[in-house]
Amino acid sequence: MVIATKPEQKVKIGATKLLIDNQWVESISGKRFETINPATGEVICDVAEADAADVDRAVAAARKAFARGSEWREMSATRRGELLYKLADLIEANKEELARLETLDNGKPIQESLNSDLPLVIGCYRYYAGWADKIQGKTIPIQGNYFCYTRHEPVGVVGQIIPWNFPLLMQAWKLAPALAAGNTVVLKTAEQTPLSALRVGELILEAGFPPGVVNILSGFGPTAGAAIARHMDIDKVAFTGSTEVGKLIMEAAAKSNLKRVTLELGGKSPNIIFADADIDQAVEGAHNALFFNQGQCCCAGSRVFVEADFYDEFVAKTVARAKKRIVGDPFDLNTGQGPQVSQEQFDRVMGYVELGMRDGANLLCGGKPVGDKGYFIQPTVFEVEDEMTIAREEIFGPVMSIMKFNNIDELIDRANDSIYGLAAAVWTKDINKAQTIANNVRAGTVWVNCYDVFDAAAPFGGFKQSGMGRELGEYGLQQYTEVKTITVKL
Ligand code: NAP
Ligand code: MG
Repeated sequence: MVIATKPEQKVKIGATKLLIDNQWVESISGKRFETINPATGEVICDVAEADAADVDRAVAAARKAFARGSEWREMSATRRGELLYKLADLIEANKEELARLETLDNGKPIQESLNSDLPLVIGCYRYYAGWADKIQGKTIPIQGNYFCYTRHEPVGVVGQIIPWNFPLLMQAWKLAPALAAGNTVVLKTAEQTPLSALRVGELILEAGFPPGVVNILSGFGPTAGAAIARHMDIDKVAFTGSTEVGKLIMEAAAKSNLKRVTLELGGKSPNIIFADADIDQAVEGAHNALFFNQGQCCCAGSRVFVEADFYDEFVAKTVARAKKRIVGDPFDLNTGQGPQVSQEQFDRVMGYVELGMRDGANLLCGGKPVGDKGYFIQPTVFEVEDEMTIAREEIFGPVMSIMKFNNIDELIDRANDSIYGLAAAVWTKDINKAQTIANNVRAGTVWVNCYDVFDAAAPFGGFKQSGMGRELGEYGLQQYTEVKTITVKL
């Protein structure tokens, strides 16, 4: 492991207030909270802290923007698309600055912010910009002398709660389809990473969205987040984060106004390596599948199942690869792994490492913090048994669990023995094995000889406790419309 040392670059901080009704405002309470640079543990700046009263204010603005006759409701679908294209262009024009802000607040390596997150963000806004004027119903041949057709209308005021692992990308996944379909939005960012979403708020104003269409609140989950989930005047809530909080969101929606709910939650995704796979491709693929984004991915390939014949060689190469991973200053272009996002996440991950050792998992490398400031953790690889806690619970950090398998039937049952079902992957040259896994693993996404291939056109979401509904693609758009059936007597 090499520790990069290049000093942090200068980063320009954008807005730090709440965006409500196209105005930058302080919270009603006047409270602000600090956001931390996870590479140093130092305060970057403070931002306005929204709570329930500010959510009320933002919902009122969003409701007004959604009212019959408003500028947004009267706007043509084509014009909505143009606004989204304009926003994508502005993000592209500012992408280096946005990437630096993302790296500063989240800790992810700059080369990933710039070359992975930002292109996906821009692609997502452009993809849904193209959809805005292609959202259409059907004419339906019902019995009798009637003309029957459907309209796909916006759901209304949408509350969106996003996590800290991909702040800009999660904002794009939420805002782009909602706005393409004509909804208005109240979006709450994660407390750890408020800054980049606020900078996008400035670009939303510059693009020319009408007042109240997009409202962005920094704040905490149990206050601002919970106020969104239980709000009586929000028509839908879209959430990404932990399964635990996803359940609270659904409960609050059920107990309030039965608002629509879509959830993108946790995972413990099986990554299956057959003995006929290309060894170097599989080792590199499994490495990136787990360690990408400091292991803080809902779809991380965190349960690596390796066929017995291949096991020893795979493990040796995987450990060698993990030891070569460059951990350090996220602003250094050579860095592959930055800090975990917060002290809390650092403690959580280290807690799982200790638990793994207590449970008798075989630590093959890593397992220790890196350096004496910031939240850096060594790339860690364990050999585990299926029933160990670290092989079952979502760790959300740079900790890989490897298991051996002997045949495909046993393997499929083991791969499916999880409360989660977000993603899976299989590495093999045998098309039959690949298809058998793809068809039988209960997960929303299966990658074959690849991992983490994302495109705004391809739907993403979970089976089982990994979520409800889909994001991205046409399926993701549908979650932001209500279907209305109109029947006309002829
Ligand atoms: P989390 O609590 O689920 O946070 C996700 C979002 O939900 C944040 O905006 C959070 O606000 C908000 N929130 C928290 N409690 C809420 C409540 N009672 N009502 C409404 N909103 C609420 O996740 P976390 O605590 O940051 O991370 C814990 C674990 O969750 C991670 O270790 C990981 O396993 C999982 N996780 C999964 C994803 C994913 O992409 N699926 C993303 C992040 C975390 P605050 O930021 O103020 O808490
Ligand atoms: Mg931060």
